[in-house]
Amino acid sequence: MEKYNLILLGPPGAGKGTHAEALKREFNVEHISTGDMLRAAVRGGTELGKLAQEYMNAGALVPDEVVIGIVRDRLIATRPERVLFDGFPRTPAQAEALEQVCLQVGLPRAIVIYLEVSDDEVVSRLSGRLQCHNCAKIYNTRYDQIEAGSECPACEGEVYQREDDKAEAIRQRLRVYREQTAPLFDYYRYRGPLVEVRAEGSTIEALSAEVVAAVRGAAD
Ligand code: ADP
Repeated sequence: MEKYNLILLGPPGAGKGTHAEALKREFNVEHISTGDMLRAAVRGGTELGKLAQEYMNAGALVPDEVVIGIVRDRLIATRPERVLFDGFPRTPAQAEALEQVCLQVGLPRAIVIYLEVSDDEVVSRLSGRLQCHNCAKIYNTRYDQIEAGSECPACEGEVYQREDDKAEAIRQRLRVYREQTAPLFDYYRYRGPLVEVRAEGSTIEALSAEVVAAVRGAAD
């Protein structure tokens, strides 16, 4: 396991952020979530945030060169030994750029974890999803006693519904995923190692355990 990065691939709402938490606990990886980085930029009102906000609210992808730039800057600034990429890459151009940057900063190749979830499940999960403004922890009104505006049980920040978790944006994100991100499955299948986990129909804990076990299996 020491010799790999990890990449979480899957539709919006597949549980990338949730399983990322389990993977971080289990393996010594730096977690890079482009979604969280972009949302932080939006909150901070930076130039990047202003540019990203419209794309994000509409459920569209932020342009490749922008996202590739922030990932590259982060890797060059922090020089991690191993990384868990969450929400990146999302297009073939991002996947190619990632390979280049990893070579440049001396990062190893990745085990790709493909989280498979049906469209119906995605819509149902995302429409109940809430996130903490402060610590970015994710909750769901389906499982947690929580509503928009509540205090985050983890850090006391405010919990809110993301603009892109509203119905129309969810449909758009699924379209974008099918058109631009799903082709990465084939891209990585031929490069390997790629593991597939059916990420629904069980508890979060059980699914996280499956994800961790699948990574261990692929690393052996
Ligand atoms: P989800 O996986 O649930 O859609 P994310 O937090 O990963 O949520 O992404 C939210 C939004 O941030 C995306 O819809 C997109 O607008 C933007 N975004 C995040 N990562 C990328 C990326 N790698 N390339 C382009 N846009 C991105």
